[in-house]
Amino acid sequence: MGTYAVTGSASGMGAAVVERLVADGHRVIGVDIKGADVTADLSTAHGRREAAAAVLELAGGVLDGAVLAAGLGPAPGKDRPRLIVEVNYRGVVELLDAWRPALARAERAKVVVFSSNSTTTVPAVPRGVVRSLLADDTEKALRTLRRLGRLGPTFAYAASKVAVSHWVRRNAVTLDWAGAGIRLNALAPGAILTPLLEQQLSTPAEAKRIRAFPVPIGGFGDPAHLAAWVVFMLSDAADFLCGSVVFVDGGSDAWFRASDWPRPVPARRVPGYVRRMAQFRSYKKAVRKG
Ligand code: NAD
Repeated sequence: MGTYAVTGSASGMGAAVVERLVADGHRVIGVDIKGADVTADLSTAHGRREAAAAVLELAGGVLDGAVLAAGLGPAPGKDRPRLIVEVNYRGVVELLDAWRPALARAERAKVVVFSSNSTTTVPAVPRGVVRSLLADDTEKALRTLRRLGRLGPTFAYAASKVAVSHWVRRNAVTLDWAGAGIRLNALAPGAILTPLLEQQLSTPAEAKRIRAFPVPIGGFGDPAHLAAWVVFMLSDAADFLCGSVVFVDGGSDAWFRASDWPRPVPARRVPGYVRRMAQFRSYKKAVRKG
């Protein structure tokens, strides 16, 4: 049985994950703004530091896995873009940076980060915002988002999830993560019926927009089903899963983007591809050296 940290443990998919893990006999350290083992506000740097340290102390310095589910949806509000990028992006990368050594101490630790199918289905997400987030320049990202007015929260949400997915894929295959035996992956749900979605459905105009969005399989996802995917991605069956973004979205991504992925390496990218082959030789050497 393992020890797992779960952020966003008090509600929705995070709570459903906790329920599954506890039922399977694991120890869970929940983190949330209220109603959790570790109460912390992940929208502040101070809150993130406190949460990271408290979890490490409770876990005794070893974590078998982590699930980063805390997140805020694209509700309207002047301060909302800031809260979204602080919780959905910084609330993932700062906690994982702090927990990485504890994850490396466990054998074959697994991490699941909550992304979203907004990453591929929201059009025209400003690439500069994603770049700024990945460069740890939150203020620059927020300056761009402020200029987008009422669309700020929607683009902040999609950009935070694109950035966190890219962060997962870039880091998953490095010496610090894969090289240390940690499997780092993301789950990209579509519309799942949780309090986050219920809040969006409470505004008639927003509800109309959400219900009109293409979901080929129909309806909304069930939080318990997504929790089952997370538990699977934490299990031994996921030993060979590394740097993947798993879409569980009723078919919306495939509806819009069927032929965008998988995409072969285009000829102009061959030099970079060859460079990556060479870099892998050094990676393997370094893994062997430990
Ligand atoms: P939810 O609102 O039910 O749960 C989110 C949790 O995050 C809550 O317990 C909340 O208190 C916590 N949280 C929010 N701000 C926080 C803060 N500042 N500090 C600490 N905790 C904070 O939402 P959910 O739908 O279960 O969402 C879980 C994850 O899935 C989120 O990252 C969300 O972006 C993502 N997601 C949700 C959907 C959906 O349709 N529900 C779709 C795609 C992705």
